[in-house]
Amino acid sequence: MATDPIREGGEDLPEERELRNILAAYAFAERAILAELRATLGQAGDRQVRAESLRTIDSLLERLRRTDAAAEQAIRRAADRSEANTGRLVQAIVSTPEPGAAFSRVNQRAVDELVASMKDKLAEGRRRIGREAKDAYARAGRQATLQGLLGRKGSRRAVSGNIMERLSRQGISSFTDKAGKRWRLQHYAEMVARTTLREAVTAAAVGRMLSGGITIARVSRNGTRCPICAPLEGRLVGLTESAGAGGLGRVWQPGELPGLTGLPPFHPNCKHSIVPEVVGINEVRGELAIEAAA
Ligand SMILES: [Zn+2]
Repeated sequence: MATDPIREGGEDLPEERELRNILAAYAFAERAILAELRATLGQAGDRQVRAESLRTIDSLLERLRRTDAAAEQAIRRAADRSEANTGRLVQAIVSTPEPGAAFSRVNQRAVDELVASMKDKLAEGRRRIGREAKDAYARAGRQATLQGLLGRKGSRRAVSGNIMERLSRQGISSFTDKAGKRWRLQHYAEMVARTTLREAVTAAAVGRMLSGGITIARVSRNGTRCPICAPLEGRLVGLTESAGAGGLGRVWQPGELPGLTGLPPFHPNCKHSIVPEVVGINEVRGELAIEAAA
C-alpha cells in the first residue's frame, strides 16, 4: 500500500501554499496516466497503440517538468523571507552590523544547491513513471503474445487487467524511501518540494544567525503531536561544535537529532523551524517581565 506522508499540525508557510498548485498538477498527471494505461493496456500487443500511449504519457510528464520553475521560485522566496525574519530577530538580540553582500552569496549558494537537488529528484521521479509505463506495456504485450500462442485470445483483457490492478493498488510508480515506506508519485513530489522548501528556510536562518554571531538556536514550539518532533520542541541546538548554553540547559548537537541535518525538517513534511537564541538573554527578559508584572 502507498502510505500518506506524515501530517503535522501547524500553519503552512505562504510559500508552501503556493506549492499546492504544483502538487495538484502531479495528482492530475498521475490520474491521467493511470486512465491512459487503463484505456490502452488491453491493446498492448498493438505497436501503434503502445507508441501513441507512451507519447501521451511523455507529454503529461513533460508538462509536469514546467512546474519546476514555480517550485524553485517558491523555495527562493521562502529562503529570502526566512533570512529577513531571522535577521530581525538577530538584530533585536545582538546589535551587529547588517551582513553584507558576501553573506548573501553564501546563503544563495546553499539555496542553489537545495534547488538543484530538488530538480534532480523530481526529474528522476518523472523518469521512473515513464519507465514504469513502458514496462507495463511490454509486460502486457508479452503476455498477450503468449496467450495468443496458447489460443486464449479472449483473456487478453484479463491479463492487462491484472497489471492494471497492481498499478492501481501500488500507485503508478511507487517510491520506496530508506525506511521502506512507499510513496505514490504525487506524494513523492509533495514530499520532495515541501522538504526542500523547509530545508531552504533552515539554511537561510542558520546562515543569518551565524553571520550575527549567534551559535545556538531553539527548535520552534508548534504544539505538535508528531511523535518525532514533540520531544524536540523548544530544544536548544548548537550551530557550531563549541556552542554551549552556559549551564542554563542542554545544548544538543545536530548529530543527536533526527533528520538529514539534525535541524528542521526532522522528517518529510515537518513544519518546525529554528529561532535564534542567546541563552540567558531570553530568560533574563522573562524574569524582568515577571518582576514588572508583580
Ligand atoms: Zn516537525
